[in-house]
Amino acid sequence: MATTATERKLLIDGDWVETGDWLEVHSPYDGSLVGRVAKAGAAETRRALDAADAAMRAPIAAHERAAILDRTAALVEERSEEIARTISAEAGKPMKAARIEASRAHSTFTMAAVEARKLAGDVIPMDASPAGAGKIALTLRVPIGVVAAISPFNFPFNLVAHKVAPALAAGCAVVLKPASQTPLSALLLAELETEAGLPSGWLNVVCGPSGEIGDVLVEDERVKLITFTGSVPVGWKLRERAARKRVNLELGNATPVIVAADADLDDIVPRLAANAFSFAGQSCISVQRIYVERSAYEPFLERFLPRVEALKVGDPADEDTDVGPLISATERDRVLAWIEEAKATGASVLAGGTLDGELLRPTVIGNVAHAAKVSCEEVFGPLCTVTPYDTLDEAITLANSTRFGLQAGIFTSDLKAALRAARELEFGGVTVNEAPTFRADQMPYGGIKDSGNTREGPAHAIREMTEERLVVLQL
Ligand code: NAP
Repeated sequence: MATTATERKLLIDGDWVETGDWLEVHSPYDGSLVGRVAKAGAAETRRALDAADAAMRAPIAAHERAAILDRTAALVEERSEEIARTISAEAGKPMKAARIEASRAHSTFTMAAVEARKLAGDVIPMDASPAGAGKIALTLRVPIGVVAAISPFNFPFNLVAHKVAPALAAGCAVVLKPASQTPLSALLLAELETEAGLPSGWLNVVCGPSGEIGDVLVEDERVKLITFTGSVPVGWKLRERAARKRVNLELGNATPVIVAADADLDDIVPRLAANAFSFAGQSCISVQRIYVERSAYEPFLERFLPRVEALKVGDPADEDTDVGPLISATERDRVLAWIEEAKATGASVLAGGTLDGELLRPTVIGNVAHAAKVSCEEVFGPLCTVTPYDTLDEAITLANSTRFGLQAGIFTSDLKAALRAARELEFGGVTVNEAPTFRADQMPYGGIKDSGNTREGPAHAIREMTEERLVVLQL
């Protein structure tokens, strides 16, 4: 539970700005007031864009950008406990998971600093064609322009870092709009950037109504790239509306994992239980659909269900809590309704399915119809399905039968099966003998199909945030 409510202002052109209007942030666990932030509208968003545009007219050298990112990384490490507590208070994320997020953000900034120092173009082999003979050509990587970053509630610090750090490494100024449920972590990150010596205008943070702020970011021609992490409908709509901008989307998933009979169940069961229910399943790569080879199905359930039942549900501020609240009662009730829908189509609830106080218990569903929402939509809650399969063909078909394509996984000791799954699973990433919830921050991370159109991870995001400029020299 939050003890004192934090008050934070917007960051525009290096100033902390009040607007006279406030956005309240409440704990998803007990509804207490965690903090309030100054609320921006279209006017503040335009001022933020003015500042970002002006900042980019005085570029910062790569070595200075890298030094600022390194200093930010050091501050993230130094203040990691404060960061974790802020994440936990406003997102309802258990402290264990919030600490991991803070430490991953340190890696994100560190990697971005490395990439800022390496940012370089290519040399083109001009005499490889008669037309190019007698010339030298090279490419420069130039910043694309002002970046608008829109971030979700579920990783309110590290997913902001995944947008801000590469943009600064690339030499782009940023206007950031964090999720209204979790703006405090983003504003804390902005404070650390300022302390690290980032000059005015390079990072501007506006919190407030998404429609109004989003409209300005979409319509303003100075925004050259929108980097969006969030839900599928909002993301694709933004891309449709911003046809002349680069729009990078990191969206949802209905994460499948295949468990072959030759997998070491004692090893994988704890990992799957943790990765299906950590942060109440509110990760875009939370394990959602588990397909188990039929001969291992019962032994799997015998191990998995007690493990799930043993997860501690409760206050995210408690050190030993595994599963906290969903971001809102509305979201919790949506997941409960999806459980009822699954039951109505013949599914059986093998664990959970009910409330523990106000919190939804970790839920496992068997015998689920493919058309049930818990199977084909992104649950984004503490719920997974378990389904037996007979052949690897069938398992791959089931895993692929979704409009999403972010990450998938397979547990097997058969190298041929693993490599086949890696080739045939239609996802941006495939983990072998690791839960598909795994992410290290330097990985090229992102999806295909409805799940998105880009890859994040500093090196990859920087490529998106820069243009290749060709320079041809006549000898
Ligand atoms: P969301 O409702 O789509 O919101 C994401 C962000 O978009 C928020 O800042 C929100 O602002 C803003 N937004 C909403 N409508 C907008 C509009 N019309 N114009 C501009 N901005 C708008 O998603 P969420 O509930 O926060 O996050 C959960 C989703 O994110 C899940 O689907 C999850 O899978 C996905 N996700 C994907 C990844 C990935 O890397 N692929 C990582 C994490 C999460 P307000 O809060 O003010 O409405």
